[in-house]
Amino acid sequence: MSHRGLSGRVVIATHNPGKLKEMRELLAPYGIEAISAGELRLPEPDETGDSFRANALIKAEAATKATGLPAFADDSGLVVDALGGEPGIHSARWAGADKDFAGAMARIDKLLRERGAIRPEQRRAAFISALCLTWPDGHLEEFEGRVDGTLVWPPRGAAGFGYDPSFLPDRHDRTFGEMTADEKHGLPPAGQGLSHRARAFLMLAAACLATPR
Ligand code: IMP
Repeated sequence: MSHRGLSGRVVIATHNPGKLKEMRELLAPYGIEAISAGELRLPEPDETGDSFRANALIKAEAATKATGLPAFADDSGLVVDALGGEPGIHSARWAGADKDFAGAMARIDKLLRERGAIRPEQRRAAFISALCLTWPDGHLEEFEGRVDGTLVWPPRGAAGFGYDPSFLPDRHDRTFGEMTADEKHGLPPAGQGLSHRARAFLMLAAACLATPR
């Protein structure tokens, strides 16, 4: 199936302010007007899928059905090798209702130590982002990006959100929590995409978006 171009208005199917900010930054150069599911007060669908890709599709489809507009959703999380891929699709849930990511990072560190994972090579992890775009006529586009790295303890830096301060991307000496948003995304012309979301987004942009303004 050929790719479809996106223009005009799109709903960003997220209620997460950190992700909304990042998605708006990514879409801005392409002249896409983005409104969020949170701003439209759309209900949050249950993320019942068993993969990032399935959950991104659930969120995008729900927003398209509710608005009749194309919708853009991301499902993402932190996959820790020594924990069999957890927290994975449960990354948000591990922080609990009060979004205690310091607690979630401490929990991961404790579990890693219990497994004797002290050295960096035993603390491998990746952020993964599945992006999905849906249209009212049922057309959909899906892309997946990942960035590999190591979990550090204690967490470093106060930038970004979620698990950023604990994640040291490969070939870098600062965590995502110590990087500016521009550094974390690593978008062209300065870079070729660093964060999982930026990498997935660059694939989506190449397939569905017009040249940046
Ligand atoms: P989702 O809304 O179900 O996709 O939840 C993804 C969760 O994964 C977020 O709440 C964060 O905990 C974590 N996560 C995803 N992307 C990032 C990132 O770029 N930095 C830090 N944490 C992230």
